[in-house]
Amino acid sequence: MFDEAARSDLEQAAGKPGTARAGMARLTTIGCGGGAAFLLEADSPEQLAAILEVAARFSLDRFVLGLGSNLLVADSGWDGLVIKLSGKLKDCHASVPGEVKNRQESKKRQESKNRQEAGGGQIECGGGASLPRAATTAVDAGLSGLEPLAGIPGTIGGAVAMNAGAWGTSIAELIRRVEISLPGEVRTLEREQLNFSYRQAELPEGSVVSRVVLDLNTGDPEEIRAAAAEIRRRRAETQPTGERSCGSVFRNPETGSSAGELLDRAGCKGLKHGAAAVSQTHANFIINEGGCSAADVIRLMDECRRRVHEKFGVILEPEVKFLGNISLKPLT
Ligand SMILES: Cc1cc2nc3c(=O)[nH]c(=O)nc-3n(C[C@H](O)[C@H](O)[C@H](O)COP(=O)(O)OP(=O)(O)OC[C@H]3O[C@@H](n4cnc5c(N)ncnc54)[C@H](O)[C@@H]3O)c2cc1C
Repeated sequence: MFDEAARSDLEQAAGKPGTARAGMARLTTIGCGGGAAFLLEADSPEQLAAILEVAARFSLDRFVLGLGSNLLVADSGWDGLVIKLSGKLKDCHASVPGEVKNRQESKKRQESKNRQEAGGGQIECGGGASLPRAATTAVDAGLSGLEPLAGIPGTIGGAVAMNAGAWGTSIAELIRRVEISLPGEVRTLEREQLNFSYRQAELPEGSVVSRVVLDLNTGDPEEIRAAAAEIRRRRAETQPTGERSCGSVFRNPETGSSAGELLDRAGCKGLKHGAAAVSQTHANFIINEGGCSAADVIRLMDECRRRVHEKFGVILEPEVKFLGNISLKPLT
């Protein structure tokens, strides 16, 4: 496990010290759970590949963390290596036909028109860049397509792994290619190789998404900005965006009503356990009212699943990822 030799090789691969017994609550949007045995940050795809190679050599359990926005960490923590993307892996930049830096206002409209005539553009982001940042980069460059995902509080890498989506769009539709890091290797995959489906991508086992290229359409920056603002407004009306949560806790069933509708009709809104509560705004969100534990969240998830199963005969499966010793009660 994490003996001195493993730590020293990991830190050498990362080019900087790691953190032992790293608190995970502050690294997740719901803000609960215990610590991880060791946390390391990587600044480049090559560093990631080197870290993964050391982890494989020492047979370490490892987990790649985005912004922890769809994650529940066990109260007892996790005895493994957590890898976080930082530095250049959080950058985003746009490439559009005819782009000129430091343009004057009078030129902006003409360039926007030129781009519309020239076709689409792309943005390239490190896997650790946040979706809101990627969306701002796109809007500033007059590129549209990312607006529906602009308010999702995760990273681009996490969005690829989860095939994040909203308002009828998922990130899969926008992807041109991704770069992944594997033990000792960096590889590029085209979108077709990822076999995207509802809230999942078929990434090679143990890989980390280190860079993503998205194909977007050109458009008028003001119109794109207005569309993004409107989607954010609708999101704030329908989701508990101002509160601590871990996103949707259950996946939508393959057919029929959404998980949120089933939970609502099963009377789950407002249920509480400890300091965890089912949101009154959206029944598929559990919120931390202040100092909740992962056990509180799990107890609520168990109760919600039980009610939906009893009323509709539907078994809801978790969408939120679990890290550490966490499991739901089997339904009988
Ligand atoms: C208020 C709120 C609203 C949300 N709304 C939506 C929504 O509308 N639609 C939606 O789809 N989701 C939504 N989510 C959930 C969440 O934001 C997404 O699933 C997001 O894509 C997760 O990204 P993350 O970086 O936070 O990943 P994390 O939560 O940190 O990790 C999730 C999974 O992705 C993996 N992962 C993370 N980064 C990488 C990487 N670089 N390479 C490989 N694997 C990686 C992790 O190992 C883990 O398995 C919402 C969450 C919240 C809190």
